[in-house]
Amino acid sequence: MAPIKIALVGIGKIVRDQHLPAIAKNSDYQLIAAASRHGTVDGIDNFKSIEAMLDAVPAIEAVSLCMPPQYRYEAARVALDAGKHVFLEKPPGATLSEVADLEALAASKGLSLFASWHSRYAPAVEAAKSFLATTTIKDVQVIWKEDVRHWHPNQEWIWAAGGLGIFDPGINALSIVTHILPRPLFVTSAVLEFPENRDAPIAANITFTDGQKLPVAAEFDWRQTGKQSWDIVARTAAGEMVLSEGGAKLSIDGKLVHEEPEQEYPMLYRRFAEIVKAGKSDVDLAPLRHVADAFMLGKRKFVEAFHD
Ligand code: NAP
Repeated sequence: MAPIKIALVGIGKIVRDQHLPAIAKNSDYQLIAAASRHGTVDGIDNFKSIEAMLDAVPAIEAVSLCMPPQYRYEAARVALDAGKHVFLEKPPGATLSEVADLEALAASKGLSLFASWHSRYAPAVEAAKSFLATTTIKDVQVIWKEDVRHWHPNQEWIWAAGGLGIFDPGINALSIVTHILPRPLFVTSAVLEFPENRDAPIAANITFTDGQKLPVAAEFDWRQTGKQSWDIVARTAAGEMVLSEGGAKLSIDGKLVHEEPEQEYPMLYRRFAEIVKAGKSDVDLAPLRHVADAFMLGKRKFVEAFHD
């Protein structure tokens, strides 16, 4: 089959770090254009807006939308209306309803919509899921603590309403948890800490359970300096499972049982090509739904102002 002619929109950190190398190494794709207000990609046609790009380059078959979530819906609608398949960076949108609208639009036009969750493709995630399927889980603790100044310098959108704050990384944890646990979860309580000068939280403590009363607790915090933590710990009848480093390593009772080189974005692009070829969409909103529920049910605390 001929490669999918793809374009990138919103040229920033994640495009340069991950999308460009993943597309370059995958013969299922030919990158032919980019649209961004300021950013450009060498060696292809660049445009200031998605509208200008789609008008000028009708050969585009698919777009990856990599701008912040608050601006993704409009671009996705323009692309779907123009008959293009759409890859959405995570989180897929700023609200649940707008993503549902895109899903219906894609279905009505016979196009593929991909709500990508890169952390689900971390190397040890499938091994963790398989392990948990074979045992009884007693409880689960999710600890996602990182230094926002290191990982998100000068990203104003992340602190604006709809930017999700600490849930920008926290939703990666939720994308793993919702994939590896055997039953759907729901939020039972949440406390969100908002810097007094920001519209998005810097920390969140959330409890969840499921239909069989499994206790699941998540601690998300952006004020972590020194060692960073991206761990999911499950106490089970077969021992303590630790899925660490954002899903890269799996240990059972302290023994490392799975570790492989990270391939998250190459796997995302493989999956996107697969759904385009199969003529279907892949849109799981569970991680975003839990974030929405935490905002809906959560108590709010105001904490010290945050300055970069
Ligand atoms: P970023 O570099 O701050 O933003 C990406 C690009 O979006 C910017 O370069 C900008 O390009 C465009 N943009 C910014 N504000 C915009 C606005 N108001 N309207 C339209 N376009 C705007 O962000 P990023 O780190 O790449 O993250 C983008 C998305 O990828 C987020 O949803 C994030 O959660 C996800 N992601 C990021 C990482 C990471 O490590 N950074 C990892 C995985 C996923 P122009 O100014 O040229 O238009």
